Amino acid sequence: MTYLDSNVVVMVVDSTKDDYKVKLSKNHFAYLSKENFKTDSTIKIQPYYLTNNWKVYGDDKYDYIIITLDEQLPYRSIQQIGPSKIVVDIFGATSNTNWITQLSTTKEIKNTFYEQQEDDVFRVIIELNHEQHWGYSIYYEEKKLVIRIKQQPPLLQLEKLKVAVDAGHGGENGGAGGVTSRIAEKNYTLLFAKELEKALIAEKATVFMTREKDTTLSMVERITMLKEQQPDFLISIHLNSSDYDTVQGVSTYYRYIGFRPLTKFVLMRMQELGLQEYGNVGGFNFSLSGPTNYPNCLVEVAFLSNKEDEKRILDPGFHTAVARKIVEGIKDWLRSLQ
Ligand SMILES: [Zn+2]
Repeated sequence: MTYLDSNVVVMVVDSTKDDYKVKLSKNHFAYLSKENFKTDSTIKIQPYYLTNNWKVYGDDKYDYIIITLDEQLPYRSIQQIGPSKIVVDIFGATSNTNWITQLSTTKEIKNTFYEQQEDDVFRVIIELNHEQHWGYSIYYEEKKLVIRIKQQPPLLQLEKLKVAVDAGHGGENGGAGGVTSRIAEKNYTLLFAKELEKALIAEKATVFMTREKDTTLSMVERITMLKEQQPDFLISIHLNSSDYDTVQGVSTYYRYIGFRPLTKFVLMRMQELGLQEYGNVGGFNFSLSGPTNYPNCLVEVAFLSNKEDEKRILDPGFHTAVARKIVEGIKDWLRSLQ
């Protein structure tokens, strides 16, 4: 469903050990973790909730769609490609919208309109100007739903972009271990990440590192940091591991289809290092692939559980080579968008 902002009102209809089953609309239900709930029995459930007027405008970095609603209703969003669109379903909402003001300050939104999908499912369709999705976030300001869409940066050159680099694991979270060397994944993800930082700085990019030392960081802490930093895109570095020691190779991962291109270009370049192709993996449910705010690419460099891959991972020359290939992949991707 992607992330929900805080203070969204949902009706609990059932419960499992850890989750509440909530009713989103007549035909849609979801399970949400109990630890994220605050019960409020004073809320009076209305027979229906209406959508009201919209405002569509842009500033120098984002376009905004502001939709006034009767209540802070739950929503979900999906990315579509060919042509690129963002689709947002607002659950429990019935259209009373008859006024969509659109200002000429928008740069990324080409068109926006709605469809009443079901009696109580209101769909917002947003057509984008660029093929590449640069990310978006959805949140509430009082009872106004805000869909904030990142505009394509005006200059697609590394020196004009801010890149976030995440070294997987760290501190108390060691990750996988080397099959013969017993090295900890966390130490090597950091070595690769630091080489990547150097290679990006050499291209004059602005770089944000989620960690630069052996720090313990939860996924929530990483995501919160990245949300504050607002990078143009994120590269996460991990080392893979399998129960089968013959499994080897490089893979890249994304969750949302609009973020796939970066992961394809990086994988293509990584294969030039003689690594086997483990694949380009979509729909991947990894925490750092979850945010919709910016394109992100998880790189699983090679397998620590395979002797041949492990030998490469231990070689400092390989760290520099990987960093160089990731940067080449990023540059290929940026060039493809010109
Ligand atoms: Zn890992």
